[in-house]
Amino acid sequence: MVTNGTESTRGDQVWRAGDRPHRHPRLDVDAAQRLLEVAIEEARAGLAEGGIPIGAALFHRDGTLLGRGRNRRVQDGDPSVHAETAAFRDAGRRRDYADCVMVTTLSPCWYCSGLVRQFGIGGVVVGEDRTFSGGHEWLAEHGVEVVVLDDPSCTELLGGFVAAHPALWHEDIGVEDRTED
Ligand SMILES: [Zn+2]
Repeated sequence: MVTNGTESTRGDQVWRAGDRPHRHPRLDVDAAQRLLEVAIEEARAGLAEGGIPIGAALFHRDGTLLGRGRNRRVQDGDPSVHAETAAFRDAGRRRDYADCVMVTTLSPCWYCSGLVRQFGIGGVVVGEDRTFSGGHEWLAEHGVEVVVLDDPSCTELLGGFVAAHPALWHEDIGVEDRTED
């Protein structure tokens, strides 16, 4: 990555919960953990529907909930409905997203990372990046404030699903899988 004096002040590092007691320069990490609960509720609702348990919510930086949603590949038969896109669409139209934070149970895929860049969403809170690591480091390199909470309930929720439904999971992340689901 090419940096200059201006960019270096924006924070190009992924902040991880394990980095405590260092504080993220702008995002309130304790608040982020509370916001994550909404995304987890969405993921659990998706699981109850027979869907892939990934949830997301779009918040204003002041904590106002703007939209929420979950992966609905199975429910809607629509591979374009990811948790982040569902939450984004649920929020309706906004003029500016710089003061918004996308909170998601899982590291955002390239499609959803592209959405964050396209609309200039200022922050991303990631529940976990163990099951899948998408574009969150790339987002941080481009000035998005990124916090990875490494939340065990997110990892258990999706990890259990992946173990039970490997073919469906591999369909979702776009890799070949010859196992039957
Ligand atoms: Zn996605």
